[in-house]
Amino acid sequence: MVSYVGIQSTHFPNEIISEIQPLVPLEIKIERVKSVGVSNTPQIIYSTSKGRCSTFLSKAKFLNCLLCFLQIKQRNIGKIKSYNFQHSGINIKTENCKYLIVYTELQAFLERYNRAALEKLEVELTAISAVVRNSMKGTVAEVNNTGCSCADMIYRRTICKHQIATQLHLQSNGWGSLTEYLQHNNVGKKWEDKLLAMAKVAKSDLGI
Ligand SMILES: [Zn+2]
Repeated sequence: MVSYVGIQSTHFPNEIISEIQPLVPLEIKIERVKSVGVSNTPQIIYSTSKGRCSTFLSKAKFLNCLLCFLQIKQRNIGKIKSYNFQHSGINIKTENCKYLIVYTELQAFLERYNRAALEKLEVELTAISAVVRNSMKGTVAEVNNTGCSCADMIYRRTICKHQIATQLHLQSNGWGSLTEYLQHNNVGKKWEDKLLAMAKVAKSDLGI
């Protein structure tokens, strides 16, 4: 049996749809995100149930996290051209925009990114939303263009783990960003592609 790390699809068990590695293999509470040395290596300082610790992140991994954040927040961001650590947060320049992610927001995001990987959330797409299942906890949440049905989104107004799982699922399946997928645009090639993909999933559920 293949064991998956991170996000998996319920519908295509023979393909690894996407695979996210946790930043740390335990639930984390991040105290600080900073860059270290002349090479500006990203580092997170955090606490877990086993105590306080720090971990360096590869630049590629960190960049992927920033991209995931932006694709949930904004449409048509293009590629990230550069980022740098400022006093209040991380300044990002993309092909189409500039963005400042303040550290408290980034910390909350990275904690949830890590949780999405640890909990192996299962993402199922509909044409206008995503249903995200947590089989470890037996919970379900729905992500749509107004946000997510979970408490994180409603009460804390942060990007939640369900949105992160959905974004990573979309990204690895070639759908692009969450904001683009969830906009109600019921025409054009993307829409037809969505319907075809839905029909394929429905067929595979019926065993045809
Ligand atoms: Zn949620």
